[in-house]
Amino acid sequence: MRYSKLFGKTTQQAPADADSVNARLLTQGGFIQRQLAGVYNFLPLGLRVLKKIQDIIREEINAVEGQEVLMPALTQRENYDITGRSALDILFHLTGHNEAAYVLNQSHEEVVTPLVQRHTLSYRDLPVAVYQIQNKFRNEPRAKSGILRGREFNMKDLYSFHADYADLEAYYERVKAAYFKIYKRLGLGERTVIAFASGGSFSKYSHEFQTLADVGEDTLYVCESCSIGINKEIIEDQKGCPECGNEELVEKRAIEVGNIFKLGTRFTEAFGFSYTDAAGEQKPVEMGCYGIGPSRIMGTLVEVFNDEKGIIWPASVAPFKLHLLTLGMDEAVKEKAEKLYHELISEGVEVLFDDRDESAGKKLNDADLIGIPLRIVMSKRSLENGGVELKRRSEADSQIIPLSELKNHL
Ligand code: ATP
Ligand code: MG
Repeated sequence: MRYSKLFGKTTQQAPADADSVNARLLTQGGFIQRQLAGVYNFLPLGLRVLKKIQDIIREEINAVEGQEVLMPALTQRENYDITGRSALDILFHLTGHNEAAYVLNQSHEEVVTPLVQRHTLSYRDLPVAVYQIQNKFRNEPRAKSGILRGREFNMKDLYSFHADYADLEAYYERVKAAYFKIYKRLGLGERTVIAFASGGSFSKYSHEFQTLADVGEDTLYVCESCSIGINKEIIEDQKGCPECGNEELVEKRAIEVGNIFKLGTRFTEAFGFSYTDAAGEQKPVEMGCYGIGPSRIMGTLVEVFNDEKGIIWPASVAPFKLHLLTLGMDEAVKEKAEKLYHELISEGVEVLFDDRDESAGKKLNDADLIGIPLRIVMSKRSLENGGVELKRRSEADSQIIPLSELKNHL
């Protein structure tokens, strides 16, 4: 992609409404644009990052046999009446023609349960797990911290259905392991702990995945030897580390980046969803749900990987692999850079090519703000010194390498 043609450029001016590092850097970098409090546009750069996060999640959920579907955002309120959740204060209500009552889904238990019910007749159809990656709507009392807490936000939600509780428990452990892989691939593995949290009205506990960060809204008590946390909201019920009994727990702030629940029959019963077992008897269906927030994760990555100059994306989710820029107006340099750009894209390397006639300072500052992991500068001087200047965004030093060696560094 040529930076000169990219829709959504950097701006040096911090947005007046930015209440957090992620809102400021993502807006200044040209990744997102605020629509209203808690609602954001994703510009091309931002959408590339979001899609990479989603693709990592998609691969790992496919690997635990989740099947991707797409459910509607808009649903009849009646389904929430059935589960007793239409009075939830975060639910957005709409009225259609003839006073028809609709809601915007805040989660999809009310849609997925009757959907899977329609396609599940006997024990042969179980277990089954379906998921989607879609936007959720929540009338959050306070939308804040940029894309960490939105009123419209992106979620991957997986739902599993089982013939008995033991099968649900076994699958729940597989999803837990998949989640650890996801955070590792996102570059958050070392900072993310699993925490015991409230089970809502469904079970005693749920498990949250919490990325340790001072800006986090949640307070955890962490057992540092097991990397397990307990959310403050349930600490009264839990004395010491649930794994090793250690009572020396350390208080830390964290951002909730995922949450998994054993729902049991809370929703299947409400919809009368049972199945016929091998003996011909009707049995209740056991259910689990597993959420993860790609847009919140994007904000979290910016909160934990930045410096005074801008964002430092982990390679797995960076909008491009390489930021190529030319310095100076020398035509021979420009020509050589064009050639390199074409070679790289023909080999499938994702390159952002800053081909603008801007000052060196502006181009280098923009590259730091955008935060692509690898920067290649071509200038008259670099060519005289034998090639191009290579610098990693996460490191202070740069080096000159011959062009022929560039591929070894990708
Ligand atoms: P919170 O306690 O932060 O309000 P929650 O427990 O209500 O979140 P879940 O219903 O568990 O959220 O949603 C699953 C995942 O979706 C969360 O772990 C988080 O990653 C993401 N998420 C939830 N609410 C928001 C939001 N308002 N904006 C962005 N992402 C969100
Ligand atoms: Mg949660």
